[in-house]
Amino acid sequence: MPLPSSRITGISPSGKDGWEVHATAMARRHAGEDIIVLSVGDHDFHTPADTVEACVRAVREGCHHYTHLAGIPRLRAAMAHLSARSSGLETPVRQVIATPGGQAALYAAVQATLDPGSHAVVVAPYYATYPGTFRAAGAEFTVVEARAADGFQPDAGAIEAAVRPNTRAILINTPNNPTGAVYTRATLEGIAELCRRRDLWLLSDEVYWTLGACEHMSPRALPGMAERTVVINSMSKSHGMTGWRIGWLTAPESLVELLIGYNLVSTYGLPDFISHAAAEAMENDYGVAEIAARYAGRRTIFLDAIHGADRLQVRGSEGGMYVMLDISAVEPDDEAFAWALLESEKISVTPGSSFGEAAAGHIRISLCKPEPVLREAAARLLRFMSQYR
Ligand code: PLP
Repeated sequence: MPLPSSRITGISPSGKDGWEVHATAMARRHAGEDIIVLSVGDHDFHTPADTVEACVRAVREGCHHYTHLAGIPRLRAAMAHLSARSSGLETPVRQVIATPGGQAALYAAVQATLDPGSHAVVVAPYYATYPGTFRAAGAEFTVVEARAADGFQPDAGAIEAAVRPNTRAILINTPNNPTGAVYTRATLEGIAELCRRRDLWLLSDEVYWTLGACEHMSPRALPGMAERTVVINSMSKSHGMTGWRIGWLTAPESLVELLIGYNLVSTYGLPDFISHAAAEAMENDYGVAEIAARYAGRRTIFLDAIHGADRLQVRGSEGGMYVMLDISAVEPDDEAFAWALLESEKISVTPGSSFGEAAAGHIRISLCKPEPVLREAAARLLRFMSQYR
């Protein structure tokens, strides 16, 4: 067989990591064991019925054709409206472009702003696909750790220390996966100031923007940032639509123009009926408030259940779909802890070190389970902690 490209072989370096805990838990669950899986980031509920109905209607009404490369006008308008709402900044339709999901939006953002051999700074703990997305662009990247002791708020000075002459972009994510940290205004202002001074793009992954404990703050709205910020967004989390693959970018108009050409050669636009259903869901906020309230309620219940526990610290955990717990006082090796927890209490969690060095000694708990299950999981976790070693 001829050789595959080095670009494709370099995307996912093989190797052992914490995701093995999840894979093992799933296999054992399928084999019939009563395992509580808290190691996955997908909703445990279906897409809101109104959205499903809108899609069925669109299929019946003949939305079966190629769509506009930037997204059908109705969808694009709804996306621009949501971008304006999430940033508080007027957002013309020409500044948004639809993509098949948040990951595709991230991929497009990296392709659009980084050349092969150029460099980006990425803040850790980060979403697991970030390194591969840079590698696929042939770009180099430096990881800057947001410290657990700072509640996983990144430090602009530490980011600047990693900036090189060929640095083109900084990638951040708030509300954050995996830590649940919501970046403060001061954090974002520091990063924005750095981007302006060093003439850098800011790639801002805001796919959890509706799931923060406080009103969302987008760095795009800070002075001088609209012209250098690319916001990555998605309906997966906010609208309960992970499997529908709808995302979008908000960026300066000139970059969006170029991204239309990118869509021409990559996706050739989104599915027609899904675009219509997504537009209706956005126009009517189908499920948004309910989903946000559900995760807020789950977070409170879980955090209340473990409140005051000995040798357990909550870090970040202000938004998104996850809670990050510091278990290092019990066991510094988070992977060993996760395996032992799976063995004795049949709960699967994600070892923090899977997300970078800063989250070592932590575990990530996904809130994608009903409240009684989360209560049970908290009780099992506390029992495990009290008996460990
Ligand atoms: N960005 C972050 C931080 C995520 O956690 C995810 C998915 O979990 C994505 C992007 C990708 O989202 P999507 O499902 O829209 O591709």
